[in-house]
Amino acid sequence: MSEVAPAEIREICTNYHHDATRLLDILRAVQARYGYVSSRAIDLLGSELRIPRIEVHSTLSFYAFLSGKPSGRVVIRLCNGVIDEMAGSENVAAALCDELGIQVGQTTPDGLISLQRTSCIGMCDQAPAALINDVVVTELTTDRAREIVRELRRHADPKKLIHRLGDGNNAHQLVQAMVKNNIRREGPIIFSPINRGEALSKALAMTPAEVIRAVKTARLRGRGGAGFPCGLKWEFARAAGGDQRYVICNADEGEPGTFKDRVILTERPDRVFAGMTIAGYAIGASDGILYLRGEYAYLQRYLEHVLEKRRQDGLLGNNIFGRGFNFDIRIQLGAGAYVCGEETGLISSCEGRRGDPKNRPPFPAQKGYLGRPTIVNNVETLACVTKILEIGSAAFCEYGTQGSTGTKLLSISGDCTRPGVYEVPFGLTVTEMLEMVGGQDAIAVQVGGASGQMIGPQEFNRKICFDDLATGGSIMIFGPQRNLLHIVERFLDFFIEESCGYCTPCRVGNVLLRERIHRILDGRGEPEDLSYLQELAETVKLASRCGLGQTSPNPVLSSLKNFRPMYTAAVKESSNGLRRSFNLASAVRLAETITGRKSTAEHV
Ligand code: SF4
Repeated sequence: MSEVAPAEIREICTNYHHDATRLLDILRAVQARYGYVSSRAIDLLGSELRIPRIEVHSTLSFYAFLSGKPSGRVVIRLCNGVIDEMAGSENVAAALCDELGIQVGQTTPDGLISLQRTSCIGMCDQAPAALINDVVVTELTTDRAREIVRELRRHADPKKLIHRLGDGNNAHQLVQAMVKNNIRREGPIIFSPINRGEALSKALAMTPAEVIRAVKTARLRGRGGAGFPCGLKWEFARAAGGDQRYVICNADEGEPGTFKDRVILTERPDRVFAGMTIAGYAIGASDGILYLRGEYAYLQRYLEHVLEKRRQDGLLGNNIFGRGFNFDIRIQLGAGAYVCGEETGLISSCEGRRGDPKNRPPFPAQKGYLGRPTIVNNVETLACVTKILEIGSAAFCEYGTQGSTGTKLLSISGDCTRPGVYEVPFGLTVTEMLEMVGGQDAIAVQVGGASGQMIGPQEFNRKICFDDLATGGSIMIFGPQRNLLHIVERFLDFFIEESCGYCTPCRVGNVLLRERIHRILDGRGEPEDLSYLQELAETVKLASRCGLGQTSPNPVLSSLKNFRPMYTAAVKESSNGLRRSFNLASAVRLAETITGRKSTAEHV
């Protein structure tokens, strides 16, 4: 690694107009140049951007993909998700460790390769997968893992690891990824062919209020999972004071098991950008941000190209369609933080700060990005907006159910024969879904990702829609060979890793939940543990500050409700009057050491 050069740091800051709200981009650029962000670089950035050193350090330390310490020239980040584990990622990790001669978290002595684990990277349909710098490698085997290490030792160039390209735009010259789209069912809304200017032209021929009314009449609800009415959110933002408003597209799909936004951005980016532009017109904004998760950095150049083409074609920029409307979009790349999927955390991240969620109210529609009214919409929601303008609200409402109009993209993974992306009308039952994907053996389905619900066969007649089983799109299928308690424990691992740590119920509560689940898995569980889990999970849900903590106990609560016999079979009353979880010998060990005497513990 070369020494930090003040002139280079200044040049990087100049590229971002010395704008401290672009600190996340600046830190990424410094890391790309030097491999990490050193203490000296932090000092220089603080003085160049005229912000306290602690602010630079605070942002740097928040993101998993940024580092204040040197790492290898090549960083292998192996996905740590449950689905990857089911597909063999632990064996892949062992092969990598063996071939590299290091443990996870270490760097080879020559400084060439670091090995890390990372949360779900959005490739569950082609697991096990890893990010190698920004290059995605999928369908890993132990043999391939060993080959990768040998290849990297020869050329140290992750791009050369791509020996075959994926389908569709994954093979585009600006993408060149081995990622597969795995689109198994194309529906009439998202994946239908697009006439690039049609929806925008129709929108600009209407008044902003008419556009909002069209979205409201279509009863479009946010596809991120919460299902908030899209038109209402736009109305709030338009009604908020001030002359500057913002549109943010949330492309930070970090929910384990979700990968459909990746496919929309790969195959229908124009539909998303058109939706953002229409939203901008409707609320009176001239700037939009696509917040692209760091794991999808491989799509950035391609998406920049699509944006540039839209500018050239008069679909973006100044005086769009000659109607006096100005709107442009920039891409903000994330850096590995699930909590940034929460809209206030995402806004903080766009402002170049830690992705800490904020208290609400005020809501982003009143006071969001840079303190201005902001709407944050999901990729799929904005793609739906474009279709609504294309075909009209009434035609859109012909799909789905009364309370959930349109179609839904499902990201299907786990124990099924046809994982991938399916566009289906809302209202499909879980049984129908399992037949569609070849997952009829399922003993459990996780609907809505780690923060969603674990349901059993007794509930497979339920419908996938906002009024019954809501999901942002993640559907994980578990077959009879799976230990569901272990899966619950792994989901808790995920939340512990991703909690921002701000509030105690989330920071501590999830650790305590995992401890108790682990104890049960370990054969030391007692009947009282079930009421303990129930009460603690409800407390974490109730007392946590943001959506992460409020939903993190869901796997515990839903599995306790739907798989009670599994828990009761795993816990036992003590036969000798002592709590099975209490280890007397270990409890008195410290006292023995201090007093130098043996207690009676070993005779108990
Ligand atoms: Fe942070 Fe968790 Fe609290 Fe949200 S609930 S603010 S993620 S600690």
